[in-house]
Amino acid sequence: MGQTLSDLPLREELRGEVPYGAPQLDVPVRLNVNENPYPPPAEVVTDVVASVEQAVREVNRYPDREAEDLRADLAAYLGHGLTAAHVWAANGSNEVMTQILQAFGGPGRVALSFAPTYSMYPEYARNTCTTWRTGRRADDFTLDADHALEQIRTHQPSVVMLASPNNPTGTALPLHVIEAICEAAPGMVVVDEAYAEFRRSGTPSALSLLPRHPRLIVTRTMSKAFAFAGGRVGYLAADPAVVEALRIVRLPYHLSAITQAVARAALRHADVMLARVAELRARRDETVEWLRANGFVAADSDANFVLFGRFDDRHAVWQGLLDRGVLIRETGPDGWLRVSIGTAEEMAAFRSALLEVTSVLGADSVVAEGSTGGAEHREGVAAS
Ligand code: PMP
Repeated sequence: MGQTLSDLPLREELRGEVPYGAPQLDVPVRLNVNENPYPPPAEVVTDVVASVEQAVREVNRYPDREAEDLRADLAAYLGHGLTAAHVWAANGSNEVMTQILQAFGGPGRVALSFAPTYSMYPEYARNTCTTWRTGRRADDFTLDADHALEQIRTHQPSVVMLASPNNPTGTALPLHVIEAICEAAPGMVVVDEAYAEFRRSGTPSALSLLPRHPRLIVTRTMSKAFAFAGGRVGYLAADPAVVEALRIVRLPYHLSAITQAVARAALRHADVMLARVAELRARRDETVEWLRANGFVAADSDANFVLFGRFDDRHAVWQGLLDRGVLIRETGPDGWLRVSIGTAEEMAAFRSALLEVTSVLGADSVVAEGSTGGAEHREGVAAS
C-alpha cells in the first residue's frame, strides 16, 4: 500500500529512468512516429482475419518456436538469394536488436553508434548491461569513415549499430562506409534498415554486402513502409551462424501463433501493402522542397520523415502545431523537428499550420541557414 517506484529494489541504472515513447495523443493529424498513414485495403483485412481464425483453431498448442514458415516468407520478400536460415524475426526490430545485444553485447562489452541517431539504441544497451558509446555524425548528418574507424579503434565495440536511413535525420550511408566499418570492426556490425523501402532511387541496401561480410547484420521491420506497425514484426538477414546465436537468447515461443499468421498473410499481399510507398516517397521529396522554398532548412531524406528547422524555440513550434491539431516529433539536434510523411491532406494541414505558427512567433523564430550549427547541435537523439 502506498508503495512508489523509488521504494523498489530497482537496478541502479534504471533509477530515474522513464518508459520510452512518443506522446500518443488523439489529434486529427498524427505525423510523429513514422507510420505509413494508409490502413490495409479490405482484401488484405479479409485474408488476415481468415488467417487469425485458422491460428485460433489451434491456439491450445504453442506456436512454431523457430517461426520457420514466416522466416522463409521474409527471405523470399527480401530476395538477394536469402533463405529462412539467413533470416530471424521477432516482435518488432526493437526486439530483434535487443536480442542482438543479448547475444553479442553484455557486461564488459561495448556497443558503438553515431549521434544523432535512434534513441532506443542506448536503451537496448542499458537493458542488456552493454556499455554504450557514441561517435558523431558530421554537420550534414553524414558519417565520416575516418572518424568511424577511429572510434572503432578507440572503443573496440562488440557491436556497431548504424541506422541507414538514419532516424531522425533520414540520411542513408554509402556502402563504402559500411564496408570500411565491417573491415575495421572487431565484432558485429548492425545496419538498421527500418526505412529501407523509402530510400531514393540509386541508394543501395546493405543486403548486397552480406555475402562478403559474415559479421554484418541487416535489420528490417514491417512497421514502416509495410504499413504493419500494429502487427509488431521486425526481422534481420545475416549469416546462418548469426541466426543460430540469436536462437540461443530468444525466449521460447516469443512470436505468437497469431503474429506469425497475420505477418504471413500480410506478406502474401506485399504488393498491395507497399503500393503507396512510391507516393509517400514523392511526397517526402515535395515536403523537403516546400520547406526549403519557404525559408526552412530540411535535411535530405531517404526515409518517410523529414528533419527540418531550425528554430530558436522548437518546443514553441511543436506546441503551436499541436494546438492546430498537427502532432509531429520534438526530437533530434537542438532547434530541429521531425515530421513523418502522411496523406496529401495531412501534409497540407502540416504546411498551413507551420506557416501560421512561424508567422505568429515572428520571423526571428526561424534561424537562417548557416548562422549556427556545429557539434553542439548534433548530440540529440531521436525516436520511433
Ligand atoms: N529502427 C529505427 C531506426 C526506427 O526508427 C524504429 C522505429 N521508430 C525501429 C528501429 C523499431 O521499429 P519496430 O520495433 O516497430 O520494428
